[in-house]
Amino acid sequence: MRYRSTRALDDASVSFGAAMMRGMAPDGGLYVPVSTPALPSGWDDISNLADASSLANAARWALPPFMGAASAEAVAQALDFEVPVSRVGQDLVLELFHGPTSAFKDVGARSLAHLMQARLQRAGKSATILVATSGDTGSAVADAFSGLSRLQVGLLYPLGGVSRVQEEQLVAARPGVRAFAVEGTFDDCQRMVKQAFADPELSDLRLSSANSINVGRLLPQMLYYLAGVRQARRHFGVQSEITVVVPSGNLGNLAAGLMAQKIGLSGVTFVSAHNRNDYFARYLTGAAEPYGFAPSIATLSNAMDVGAPSNFERLHTMFGDDLKALVSAQVVNDEATLERMRTTYEQHRYLACPHTAVGLEAAARLASQSAGTATLVLSTAHPAKFPESVERATGVTPAAPSALVAYGAAEKRVERIGADAEQLKAALLSKPSFSG
Ligand SMILES: *Cc1c(COP(=O)(O)O)cnc(C)c1O
Repeated sequence: MRYRSTRALDDASVSFGAAMMRGMAPDGGLYVPVSTPALPSGWDDISNLADASSLANAARWALPPFMGAASAEAVAQALDFEVPVSRVGQDLVLELFHGPTSAFKDVGARSLAHLMQARLQRAGKSATILVATSGDTGSAVADAFSGLSRLQVGLLYPLGGVSRVQEEQLVAARPGVRAFAVEGTFDDCQRMVKQAFADPELSDLRLSSANSINVGRLLPQMLYYLAGVRQARRHFGVQSEITVVVPSGNLGNLAAGLMAQKIGLSGVTFVSAHNRNDYFARYLTGAAEPYGFAPSIATLSNAMDVGAPSNFERLHTMFGDDLKALVSAQVVNDEATLERMRTTYEQHRYLACPHTAVGLEAAARLASQSAGTATLVLSTAHPAKFPESVERATGVTPAAPSALVAYGAAEKRVERIGADAEQLKAALLSKPSFSG
């Protein structure tokens, strides 16, 4: 498969490996596959559902045409956790948070790490990943890349700008990972990373990125749609039409779902669930122009606080105005999010994180419109990652999974630097190998 930039005016294309190592195209666009390889027939055979929740098997069916069999196998090895469904009233919840950092970002980050490691190993090279993070992405990336022999990671986060649980995960000492607490904002962190990429004095580090627009993160996210819909059909019936509710921010999750549909995941309808950062919802109804983005607004579901979703360009290029027929949207404010967390616990004894609650509230609004819909809500984080909101809504402190508890107790390692690209550069050059 070849990949082209969303901004390319000609037919120029690159290999999967080049698209992944670059992350973003040189013209500033995002890479998209040039064609649509269909899923092999029989992938959804419901009689063989013993492995329905296995992402590894889905990787072996769906990914070879996109990246070759060896890379598909690297993804299968990376995704060594399940995506089980839970019944919550009439709906099913697809729990994407059983990976090592308890958030769905583990799927993309682990896939990308293992894809890059396999490629660098073959080429006899190494690379340094630099990420600016305001929360979940950084810990998923740190965990995913840590300990891989060809890769090391620098994380930048705004000092005082992440939650306690998030910070514990970011500063836990890991082989090959350095955490930088920046005396500034998330925007400062992003600017410093950009300047580092452009700095010739840092070229020996072979800097690369791991952000959510990378095709190496995006394509493997199709897999949980395949695994989730198979499980939903077992529950609701083989012929059932499934409505999939996707809590959305940067729209990477939704883009992966629409790509899964394009390669043959049929009988599904998508609903994008947003907090008050509702640009995409307004675009779908015609109330906002393409790319007529808005500044972001802080909400309880903070991983979805995105005013200018970076995957919009990919979706708009791949689907154009068809998007408006393929997806509908719901917008849920903080009050309704808390209320949905509370009623979900009271009625079903299920604790949901605020992002998942935005999805559950969207599903509830749909159900009241049409009885008997089979709905699958994607759950994007474990409730224990957001204990303050969960307690506020339900009065219950969510029990942390053992991996999260371990982070709280782990040895910490963090370097504090000013919001200044020169300070980052000095720190990187002072210790070019992070493991020492
Ligand atoms: C990143 C994230 C989202 C949003 O996913 P996008 O791919 O950015 O739309 C939702 N929930 C959680 C917990 C996240 O970390």
